[in-house]
Amino acid sequence: MFKTLLARLRRAHARPTIDDAVWHEVVGALPFLARRSAADVDKLRGLATEFLGSKHFSTAHDLPLTEAMCVSVAAQACLPILNLPSALYRGWTGIVLYPGEFLIRKTVEDDAGVVHDIAQEASGEAWEGGPVVLSWQDVQASDVLAYNVVIHEFVHKIDMEGGEADGVPPMLRRLHGELTPEAWCEVFDPAYEAFCHDVSNVPDAHWDAFASSSLLDPYATEHESEFFAVCAEAFFVAPEAFRDAYPSLYTLFSRYFLQDPAASAGAGDGTPGTAGLAPATTP
Ligand SMILES: [Zn+2]
Repeated sequence: MFKTLLARLRRAHARPTIDDAVWHEVVGALPFLARRSAADVDKLRGLATEFLGSKHFSTAHDLPLTEAMCVSVAAQACLPILNLPSALYRGWTGIVLYPGEFLIRKTVEDDAGVVHDIAQEASGEAWEGGPVVLSWQDVQASDVLAYNVVIHEFVHKIDMEGGEADGVPPMLRRLHGELTPEAWCEVFDPAYEAFCHDVSNVPDAHWDAFASSSLLDPYATEHESEFFAVCAEAFFVAPEAFRDAYPSLYTLFSRYFLQDPAASAGAGDGTPGTAGLAPATTP
């Protein structure tokens, strides 16, 4: 199937295409895409097509690769850059799909300053200048509130385009106007600290209930870059809940991504949504 996709992309050369039936199946299976305006979905299809023509998909452990899998990853990956330059995903080509979670090795330093090599199970990983690795099982779990491993990893890629992943994505004056890194940090940093404070104050006895009901995965407290990626999942997948719980972060993310996904609710009937934020004048 993937060979078929490749052949079609090569044959089309300048204008690769996505099969209509596959596209509608992919969008229909992802409620946060299906609710978007017709104009947004059309634009996303164009970006996903370009993405498929510039990236290389492969799988591990003999996972069969289908066109629908590639299109699904492409559509979700392109949602954050719907109104941003696609150059944010430049400089690398590989996307590797594992059947389920996979082991990543990393070094951690303990409280005594001793460095340990550890292996950790992961559902996704974005390498700086290298591939994005995803668990296909987790890619399919997009019906869980505010969870989306594809958006998470690709937002890390955007973060890395501005240098080391630090939760401050690259900003362009012509697109973002007065939203400078300093202005970003004025809102983002206190929100990160408040979330870390809230999480650290959850009593052990209430931890399970908290972890299973929290809109934001407590994993977000690991680092500013993780808070950025986890918040982006909620922004795109559960926008009304994110807006209601974290209004200042929602506004900040709207100004950065130049999208207003909560306003797109119910716009999936073909009516254009109200996502056209004016970048330099949005409060
Ligand atoms: Zn992450």
